[in-house]
Amino acid sequence: MKPFDFFKPESADAAVEALAAHSPNVRILAGGTDAVVDLKHVPDSPGLVVDVSQLKELKGIEVTDAGLRIGAGVTHTEIMKHPLIEEHAPALIDAAHTIGAVQTRNLGTLGGNLVTCVPSMDSGPTLMALEAEVTVTGPTGKRTIPLGDFFVGPRKTILEKDALLLEIIVPAANLGKPASFIKFGLRKGQALALVNAASALWIEDGKFKDVRISLGAVAPVVIRAPKAEAILEGQSVTELLVDEAAKTAVSEAKPIDDFRASKEYRNDLIEVGVRRTLKGAIDAASI
Ligand SMILES: Cc1cc2nc3c(=O)[nH]c(=O)nc-3n(C[C@H](O)[C@H](O)[C@H](O)COP(=O)(O)OP(=O)(O)OC[C@H]3O[C@@H](n4cnc5c(N)ncnc54)[C@H](O)[C@@H]3O)c2cc1C
Repeated sequence: MKPFDFFKPESADAAVEALAAHSPNVRILAGGTDAVVDLKHVPDSPGLVVDVSQLKELKGIEVTDAGLRIGAGVTHTEIMKHPLIEEHAPALIDAAHTIGAVQTRNLGTLGGNLVTCVPSMDSGPTLMALEAEVTVTGPTGKRTIPLGDFFVGPRKTILEKDALLLEIIVPAANLGKPASFIKFGLRKGQALALVNAASALWIEDGKFKDVRISLGAVAPVVIRAPKAEAILEGQSVTELLVDEAAKTAVSEAKPIDDFRASKEYRNDLIEVGVRRTLKGAIDAASI
């Protein structure tokens, strides 16, 4: 690892000031589960490392007028144990469970997972299906944007070097929305997703309403499957339609072919994943 300067700010403002002063020779460190691996492989000194792991502005899980607010520095373990997540967005707990092992979940944060922006991230699909928004802050102030607009490409978000992800918000209208998440890997534990998927929906008078389907590891970033969603919207709940939506979702993805799985196998997983998460969400809606 190359030598670097280290700064542990006491506020988000102080963090942004330091980031702006040293940009672009600066890196943010949260839980470090991704960042420390990267730091080991950089050819030159990364400059200044700004440790945001203790910032109070990045902590906490609460319900506000805007919805369910999760600080970017909240760990996967905290998500798994939190009563407000269990009450309002339990599918996030299922997703957090699948991330790495206990040690990774104890250190790894939701914000770090989203900013790393690998296509296989496990927190992305459920948050996308629940239409989460993110608040970012930088030298020009704060702004809140849909999570889908935050992802730009593999390992690339809209964040500039001098900006910080502050929080993730599941909108108030989607609190308690029935949702379901699934992950397929080469083994049950400690595996990257070959495909992951999440669905969220309401059922009103026996008909689908506001169906949202999201997929990970099948495109450069986590995506929605709008054509599959449209097949279900406003229609009566039937197994036949769920099957049709699952098949359609395959046409909306562009999975890769690599040493871990063929494109054909991943396409099969997309269909199965969408079918199962839709059924999971329907079951959750019927409780
Ligand atoms: C053994 C192992 C297994 C793993 N398994 C999985 C898995 O199954 N599924 C999965 O999705 N991921 C997995 N990961 C990846 C990783 O653990 C997660 O992405 C984790 O959530 C990253 O969070 P962190 O706090 O450790 O981020 P860090 O490593 O501290 O940071 C990651 C990146 O985000 C930036 N960053 C962090 N916080 C902020 C912020 N608030 N604002 C702006 N930038 C920020 C950092 O600069 C860095 O670029 C695994 C990692 C390891 C080491």
